Amino acid sequence: MKDEIVIAQAMNGQVRIHAARTTALVEEARKAHHCMATSAAALGRVLSATAIMASDLKNPQEKITSVMNGHGPAGTVLAQADGAGNVRGFIGDPSLYLVREDGHLAVGQAIGTNGTLTVTKDLGLKEPFSGVAQIRSGEVGDDFAYYFAISEQTPSIVGVGVLVNPDGTIQASGGLFIQLMPGAKEEAIEKCEQVSAILKPVSTLINEGHSCEEIIRMYFEDAEMLGTRDVRWHCGCSRERFAVALKLLDEKELTEMIEDGKGAEIHCHYCNTYYNFTSREIREILESKRAENRPA
Ligand SMILES: [Zn+2]
Repeated sequence: MKDEIVIAQAMNGQVRIHAARTTALVEEARKAHHCMATSAAALGRVLSATAIMASDLKNPQEKITSVMNGHGPAGTVLAQADGAGNVRGFIGDPSLYLVREDGHLAVGQAIGTNGTLTVTKDLGLKEPFSGVAQIRSGEVGDDFAYYFAISEQTPSIVGVGVLVNPDGTIQASGGLFIQLMPGAKEEAIEKCEQVSAILKPVSTLINEGHSCEEIIRMYFEDAEMLGTRDVRWHCGCSRERFAVALKLLDEKELTEMIEDGKGAEIHCHYCNTYYNFTSREIREILESKRAENRPA
């Protein structure tokens, strides 16, 4: 089944719900970064939460970036998603395999609890909007819920989960956001409390083959589906884009790269792709830069 995010509302618009299946995109992320199980789960959860947030963007160029750093062994976990459904990101240490006593992957331990979750919304305006919250558990879902509470004043239930197979591949991944809208009445608050008490891990539901719509209806029988968004792992970097970036360096730096004869190796942190430019190619870039800068 293809990845997707379904957006719904319930109780006459007092509750807004997003359900996401992100299995394929998290598997792509795992492959790109050669992640071990705990790193894959940590990155997958942050990618899923960020993809859900971005599904509300109006414009394909708008972007949301989440950065979690709790000073645990995972280092920085970054996810970025745009209004077109493209999702990319990375984790500082992709090699973690940490397991809790109960057998679950120790995502909270990997991320750590001594730091912050920062969410930046770039809506194409002059100043991107940024919100910060302390990391509570490092388990990601709780941390995003806390972020929504303090930074956006939106009471939220956030579930994000990744099931990893014994061979390290991703079995199932997904997310569920349940949020109280401004003006929600006592009945809606009570309903969300009831739902919170019976909530199953979203990765389990995805693994059982439930569609996003079915997951939403499990908790809100009256839910009205508002739309479905495609979502995928896609970085968007390319050799051409990095050539443009090289061209922006000053002549002195480019000349040094040409003279040392080693060329340049550029690494895209988002998707872990390496691009190599030979000294000759850098010389061509420098020459075209000079030609452009020459007065007409
Ligand atoms: Zn890339």
